[in-house]
Amino acid sequence: MQAWNLVYLVGLIVYIGIRGVFGGRTKRNEKVVSRVDRADRALVALVFVGSIVLPALYLFTPWLGFADYRLPAFVPWCGAAIMVIALWLFWRAHVDLGLNWSITLEMRKDHELVVHGVYRRIRHPMYAAIFLFALAQGFLLQNWLAGWAGLVTVALLYLVRTPREEKMMCEFFGDSYRDYMKRTGRLFPRL
Ligand code: SAH
Repeated sequence: MQAWNLVYLVGLIVYIGIRGVFGGRTKRNEKVVSRVDRADRALVALVFVGSIVLPALYLFTPWLGFADYRLPAFVPWCGAAIMVIALWLFWRAHVDLGLNWSITLEMRKDHELVVHGVYRRIRHPMYAAIFLFALAQGFLLQNWLAGWAGLVTVALLYLVRTPREEKMMCEFFGDSYRDYMKRTGRLFPRL
């Protein structure tokens, strides 16, 4: 296996590990609102295919060989750097959200609006981290399908999910969330 493929694999294992640790902690925290529907589930499944199934096929089988290509040597180095930033931000967002985290559109009992840490200036640091991870995937895996399926599927999920999530947060937290929206950006700090 090429060194850059191994870097992606290690990053993916760390990513899944972070999810597993924090997912386990929130498991017992009761849910009081759920906006999960088939569309959201289908999009989460698509992201799973784009960021885990296709990379796994590329790494462990010859099936996606037809879509291989070569990137200039500096690109995977950038990918590795982006991967480190993505994993740091992913971890920090989980720490700051704490027991309020859900994989999908849900609100928990005693849900608190988090506006500190990496949530101080942007509303969706976890999605920003997932975007960065998908970008790193494209820069590390030198295959059109396995490299870029992550970014395409994450973009789809983000475009559909974010407006719905913000609507749900406005309904739940009212003016507190509306004020928070005024002083923050979605993925980048508001100028
Ligand atoms: N969109 C956020 C959180 C992703 S997890 C991000 O990208 O960082 C999704 C769940 O987190 C949502 O269903 C909602 O329940 C919760 N959530 C999102 N923003 C929140 C905030 N600022 N404070 C508390 N909970 C939040």
